[in-house]
Amino acid sequence: MLRCGLICLACLVVATSADAQESGWKAGFARVVITPEQPMWMSGYGGRTHASEGKVHDLYARAAALQDASGKRVVMVSLDLVGVPKVMSERVSAAAKSKHKLERADLMFCCSHTHCGPALDQSLTHMLDMKEEDWQQVVANQKWLDARVTEAIDSAMADLKPARLAAGIGNCGFASNRRPPIGTGPIDHEVPALRVMSSDGSQLRGVIFGYACHNTVLGFYQWCGDYAGFAQLYLEERHPGATALFFSGCGADQNPLPRRKVELAEQYGRMLALSVDKVLATEMTPISGAVTTRFREIPLEFSVIPSRDELVKTAESADRYQRTRAKLFLKDIDAGKPLSPTYPYPVQVWKLGNVNWVALGGEVVVDYSLRLKRELGQGQTWVTGYANDVMAYIPSERVLTEGGYEGDTSMIVYMQPSKWKSGLEDQIVKTVQDLAKP
Ligand SMILES: [Zn+2]
Repeated sequence: MLRCGLICLACLVVATSADAQESGWKAGFARVVITPEQPMWMSGYGGRTHASEGKVHDLYARAAALQDASGKRVVMVSLDLVGVPKVMSERVSAAAKSKHKLERADLMFCCSHTHCGPALDQSLTHMLDMKEEDWQQVVANQKWLDARVTEAIDSAMADLKPARLAAGIGNCGFASNRRPPIGTGPIDHEVPALRVMSSDGSQLRGVIFGYACHNTVLGFYQWCGDYAGFAQLYLEERHPGATALFFSGCGADQNPLPRRKVELAEQYGRMLALSVDKVLATEMTPISGAVTTRFREIPLEFSVIPSRDELVKTAESADRYQRTRAKLFLKDIDAGKPLSPTYPYPVQVWKLGNVNWVALGGEVVVDYSLRLKRELGQGQTWVTGYANDVMAYIPSERVLTEGGYEGDTSMIVYMQPSKWKSGLEDQIVKTVQDLAKP
């Protein structure tokens, strides 16, 4: 009986390595600290009045490099940051192209949208009431951040080793729709997860997972990855040697409720990590086949562009955000740069075996993930928001019509000229469908 057991075990090992050879995947991971080295302004809330004061835990840039049997390589980056400035993804992409021959479509920049991370260069920065020297610190820190992200990509690429990939979907219940009446609107409690094992199946090397909820339990003056930061750290603690990478789903209209206590951020982080662990322990669907990548910027239209006369009037507004926005625009116009009627909105689709992995820019409301899953296939479609460029909220047609913060007024803090023009939901979904075609 013992001999039979040994033989079966031997069969398993042989089958496992044969699978790994057949699948031909390789994977590499890296994690670098991006906690600012000096106290500085934080991002996410316009009401803060001074720089940071210490930390709950470190902030990280994590990278996962994947290579299919044909040698095609992609890198997903997960950042404990409030957003991804367009200039950052462009600068880091340029470096990755020259060093690793990665095209723009082969890189996916995701962020957790923590509101306890550093102020970023040209992304939600103008909402902050900073002095000139604070601005200079933000610009200098951005250069350091870009270099750290590049370092994470380089290290993940250098770490590529044969691997086994599998996908699954779990569930976690703490997100509530925050639009009034609170708790009654649509939600998306799915937790998509990609498991990456060593080629012999003995070691978890990495896990990529997502959740659709604002990462805003906390809003104080200490560096913290919030619930997503805790979830990543719990998973890495539970699986020594593994890297856990979070991506925000379409959670722009979802909040973790109740909130505002570190214990609650820990609790939600633990809940999310447990949901991921539950998926990892189930029979997941092996990823076979190849990875294909597509990326396109589409011109999303604003509903109205203010005239110079209107801006001159608004520049005297009692509202700080309105005033700042009008002055910024006047400066551009007077420098010969008229306001653009459109914004180049990034849409990306990766096909990872049978999984359609959609990555959309901006703070995307939940209607998009629910619709895209219906249209592209439930159980095999993942939708990431806050990816590649976070320039504004992205309301669905429903939320745009209803108005409120996500549909309208948030455009002021994002320093965009007006709300989006009706039609954006169909334009974005049609682009995704195009990019997802075989
Ligand atoms: Zn937000």
